[in-house]
Amino acid sequence: MKLDGILPFARVLLEKVVSAGDIAIDCTVGNGKDTVFLANLVGKTGKIYGFDIQELAIMKTTEKLIENDLIKQVSLHLTGHENIKMVLPNEHHNKVRGAIFNLGYLPGGDKEIVTVPETTIKAVQDLLEIMAPEGIIVIVIYHGHPEGEVESDALSYYVKSIPQEKAHVLEYRFINQTNNPPFIIAIEKR
Ligand code: SAM
Repeated sequence: MKLDGILPFARVLLEKVVSAGDIAIDCTVGNGKDTVFLANLVGKTGKIYGFDIQELAIMKTTEKLIENDLIKQVSLHLTGHENIKMVLPNEHHNKVRGAIFNLGYLPGGDKEIVTVPETTIKAVQDLLEIMAPEGIIVIVIYHGHPEGEVESDALSYYVKSIPQEKAHVLEYRFINQTNNPPFIIAIEKR
């Protein structure tokens, strides 16, 4: 297939805006794959902030970052992404170039612990305040499980209401696949 799959396309979008020395955020650290990807993009002179509410996620990701010699440029926080604005120091506000959410539950972890629309939407609203102009928020949405469907509906409703003078909002999805495959919402701050 020549078209980008959902996860590869999420990375294509992040690569467009995040470079060496930049600041970016992994809003749902999980097993750390996106954190590692972003840490490689920003290099030793950049900074990644990572958020997750599960100790297991923070532990696994810390190990992965140490193994790959990427720990120096990453600051991991055992707290929800709804607290991003509080955690990021003032000097980094308006400098965030990219942010990613991989919604749902931790693969291999407790499937009862999932992202929820209230906190996800609060995080997106706060990010729109503290991103740099042309910064991109990438949200990968899994709507194949019941809570995911509720979150997908709430989030789609919210992002459609963002005024076009404030941000460009994109949806990227395969529309002929079975079993509710994940899709992307990307928001570029203007
Ligand atoms: N990006 C991850 C990776 O590469 O492995 C996968 C993320 S996983 C699908 C979703 C994660 O979101 C889980 O680890 C879960 O604990 C976390 N999560 C749930 N609610 C959260 C919140 N309010 N803030 C931050 N993380 C949250």
